[in-house]
Amino acid sequence: MSTLRFYAVKASLNRAPVSIKEPIRRSDIFNQNVFNKVAMRQYLTKNALDLITEAIEKGNKIDRHTAEHVATGMKEWAISKGATHYTHWFQPLTGSTAEKHDAFFETIDEESAIEKFDSSQLVQQEPDASSFPSGGIRNTFEARGYTAWDPTSPAFVYGSTLCIPTVFVSYTGEALDYKTPLLRALNVVDNAAVSVCKYFDKNVKKVSASLGWEQEYFLIDNALATSRPDIVLTGRTLLGHSPAKGQQLDDHYFGSIPSRVMAYMRDLETECMLLGIPVKTRHNEVAPNQFELAPIFEEANLAVDHNSLLMDVMEKVAKRHNFKVLLHEKPFAGVNGSGKHNNWSLRTDKGINLLSPGKTPMSNLQFLTFFINTIKAVQKYEELLRGSIASAGNDHRLGANEAPPAVMSVFIGKQLTKVLDELETVTKGKLSPKEKTDLKLNVVGKIPEILLDNTDRNRTSPFAFTGNKFEFRAVGSKANCANPMTVLNSIVAKQLQDFKTEVDGLIAGNGMKKDDAIFNVLREYIKTSKSILFEGNGYSEDWKKEAKKRGLSNNVNTPEALRIKISDNAISLFESLGVMNRIESEARYEVEMEEYIMRIQIESRVLGDIARNHVVPTAVRYQNVLIENVTGLKSIYGDAFKTLAKEQLVLIEKISTHIEAINSLVTEMTNARKMFNQETRIDKRAMGYCEVIKPIFDKIRYHCDKLELMIDDELWPLTKYRELLFTK
Ligand code: ADP
Ligand code: MG
Repeated sequence: MSTLRFYAVKASLNRAPVSIKEPIRRSDIFNQNVFNKVAMRQYLTKNALDLITEAIEKGNKIDRHTAEHVATGMKEWAISKGATHYTHWFQPLTGSTAEKHDAFFETIDEESAIEKFDSSQLVQQEPDASSFPSGGIRNTFEARGYTAWDPTSPAFVYGSTLCIPTVFVSYTGEALDYKTPLLRALNVVDNAAVSVCKYFDKNVKKVSASLGWEQEYFLIDNALATSRPDIVLTGRTLLGHSPAKGQQLDDHYFGSIPSRVMAYMRDLETECMLLGIPVKTRHNEVAPNQFELAPIFEEANLAVDHNSLLMDVMEKVAKRHNFKVLLHEKPFAGVNGSGKHNNWSLRTDKGINLLSPGKTPMSNLQFLTFFINTIKAVQKYEELLRGSIASAGNDHRLGANEAPPAVMSVFIGKQLTKVLDELETVTKGKLSPKEKTDLKLNVVGKIPEILLDNTDRNRTSPFAFTGNKFEFRAVGSKANCANPMTVLNSIVAKQLQDFKTEVDGLIAGNGMKKDDAIFNVLREYIKTSKSILFEGNGYSEDWKKEAKKRGLSNNVNTPEALRIKISDNAISLFESLGVMNRIESEARYEVEMEEYIMRIQIESRVLGDIARNHVVPTAVRYQNVLIENVTGLKSIYGDAFKTLAKEQLVLIEKISTHIEAINSLVTEMTNARKMFNQETRIDKRAMGYCEVIKPIFDKIRYHCDKLELMIDDELWPLTKYRELLFTK
């Protein structure tokens, strides 16, 4: 009997919900472990508080003296929350978070010690971080990278550690993390959007991008999950026959949440509250044992930090509840994978959501300006947006009839399509007063009303307008949101800059009135961005053909999708915006390609191991049982055994066929790996892994899954899909 599997099943059956402590009023504990303004008011002098507030809001530099005050206050606050250590918390290009803890404890002489934390420890650190991916920016012999405090994201205490959000840059100033380019992108979109806002409201001083992510995940009993070497090492199952029941009955989605899971969610949400992550929504997702968690949206940099922190907290809390969280985009074949919708909009310091229609025609023209510019940006840079969400895991999801396709398009709904159609017919040049009044009253002025019944949501669209925000649905569940957010905010910033230049040109050059100029430029944008608008079924084959005709990219795998990142256009775009220089763009491409290769390589090794060392020996063992049975029948019944053992004989042969196929496919896969590992060009190596090695996975899996159906359940060593997915 395969002991581990049955031990795991038994352990999972004996679980009860873990009891937890939870406050009734979440607001009572919200932000309790965050060094936010409320805490700062307690621990800082008024002057220090004012200076740091200004630094956060206006991006001013913080001088040493202020930093010293903040460090002391922060330390005292952190100790009051039970912290003994501090860490610069950052997001290296591995996609997860990194931390190296130092104690506050310091000796002052041989006899005495104090808790110490000064400005230099707050502001800058030099972790020996030579093992993080850098895409060649840092040679290991001068492996210096600095972390530097990001005061726009508040410090927090997690466990017994004060975590200080930081950027991570090389000695020569290049970004080695996700946060640095994101902050730069948020800064350019702020400036670009403020300039455009000034057409409508001179008083706008700041525009922030907001992000509300929706995190999907699977929750599997820990004993069951860890009994599978593929889940442990790759985060997903590499084989396993579909259970008789999957998600076909649609009985999981929005269903009642299982009690063990509910305890987990409440515990997790309590942790989130303490850390200031404003989680609000929880529900079952489509696949069995799949769930979703979503917060109230926040400023994008903070939201990205919160999502990165959340993924870490989710894993830690899961352990307490004997669960394993699977954040992988496609842990199980045959049921839905997981994504992380990125809801995005822009809001002014006056509290106006620029993607929400307002009450007056003027504010609606402002809405249309940002709405149409966003569409135009996606149309121009669709391939970059696609590249921003490429990963080995997400390749399983995009275009797999459950997630949006790899073709980027924008869905806006019937009513707004009609509005754009009408705006497209606006007179070229100066508009007559009648036309303008008409437009304002009947087109622009009507938007709030029509949006109310703009309910047709198209789930197959990767980038959909949902009333007051765009929802980028193609992001993978495991992704760091910084990558797509950096690209989206950069391309919108660039587009707004271009828009401003064009409108100003018409005003100055052609003597047009502001409104006329805006209508004229928007009209042209509507005409030229049509190719990206699509309201139909994104899963259909017809759309792929149509998209091709329209000239849209369809990069179905990561190596293809990443290529755009080192195109001259992309490099000069990011360079001109000051978001990334050439070296940084090229380094990111290298890191992401390398990561892709390594992920497929690990999967390939694990699959080879499981197939040869778990599946084949089990098949042989069962075959021997059958052979013994046939020999026995023969010795009792003589020639009649051929009829009596007919089924067994067929099985014995089939098992041999599958064993033979598995062995030769694993050899073929291993040889292919050896060959492509020799390839020095990273693009060719990645393509080899993608087009030659990865397709062998499916073939090996096919034979293993067939064996799973034939072999005595008692002998099968790998925890089955039905056990993984239906144990609650
Ligand atoms: P769903 O897409 O599942 O129907 P909702 O549309 O209600 O859910 O919202 C999903 C997410 O969108 C939430 O995280 C919410 O905070 C976020 N969201 C709502 N408004 C905005 C906004 N203006 N900017 C960014 N995110 C937003
Ligand atoms: Mg959504």
